[in-house]
Amino acid sequence: MAVHPVLAAAGQFLHLSRTQAELFNQPQSLSLSDGTQVTIHAAGIIEFAPINAATQAILLSCGIHGNETAPIEILDAMVQDILCGRLVVKHRLMVQFGNLPAMDIAERFVDENMNRLFSGAHSKAPGLVNQERIRAKQLEDCTRAFFLKDLLPRCHYDLHTAIRASKNDKFAVYPFLHGKPWKAQQISFMQACGVNTILLSNSPTTTYSYFSSHQFGADAFTVELGKVRPFGQNNMADFAEVTSTLRALVAGEALNLPDYQDDAVNLFSVNQVINKTQPDFRLHFADDAPNFSDFKQGELLASETGHEYRALVDGEAIVFPNANVALGQRALLTVAPVTLQQANEGKADV
Ligand SMILES: [Zn+2]
Repeated sequence: MAVHPVLAAAGQFLHLSRTQAELFNQPQSLSLSDGTQVTIHAAGIIEFAPINAATQAILLSCGIHGNETAPIEILDAMVQDILCGRLVVKHRLMVQFGNLPAMDIAERFVDENMNRLFSGAHSKAPGLVNQERIRAKQLEDCTRAFFLKDLLPRCHYDLHTAIRASKNDKFAVYPFLHGKPWKAQQISFMQACGVNTILLSNSPTTTYSYFSSHQFGADAFTVELGKVRPFGQNNMADFAEVTSTLRALVAGEALNLPDYQDDAVNLFSVNQVINKTQPDFRLHFADDAPNFSDFKQGELLASETGHEYRALVDGEAIVFPNANVALGQRALLTVAPVTLQQANEGKADV
């Protein structure tokens, strides 16, 4: 199939995916002048294979929530530069722009939060009934095929921005590893991306990063890069570190990662998962309290008939509070500072 002239001339893969998705109804392949092989699997899903023998398989995803524009702009520019020969990949790379219809309406999602639909949740009852579910399955299928092509080390960075401000502007969730040790090198990589707050997850989830981590052993993170803003209104200087580090990664350049130091990073482990069980559940801090706001031991965090929820340790911090969830749903997560050594106690050597 002939390459669309806009793709060939300016590398506008995302633009074409959003405006003429039908161009990519059938997978297509092309070669760049530098020898890079390009496979377009579908609108918003593009894969690159370098001319050299790759030593890593890298998945970068964004726009799983459609209004989280900064990561979309970062990866759109990266894909344009690769297609136009300004950036040459040295590793296998797949870039996924997740929720194209939600981008068009500048919303987090159209029907359903896509980042609760992975690891097969898309096909559980009521099944593939909306576009987020169908797309989550398609993304999973492409990711599976991409990672299972070889036995190279795998990584997946799923890039987001947060609805709520965060005391620590950028943070990442390191998916639950089922007892395997958290990797200092990966935390240092996050630091090089300008992310110095890491939440170590303690349970399986239906997020995209957990899917890649658990199913394929990929080093994976959900990376929250700052606050949601409309397209074109991001200050890209805020994202200079993540942009340059991801580009260095795909280009096979030396990353010069900092040696891991507990002092340089804020590691948190989950302390309390607080579910709303009564209609009068309420939070005892400001509605707009940033993520990672911390409390002293004994401070009241939330209450409902029959229960008071207090900070159990000094420095316990709140994440993702939402008093308006349905009964039985999680209304608040609290996290407590931890060192990497404490977090990895009893696990195999890092
Ligand atoms: Zn998001």
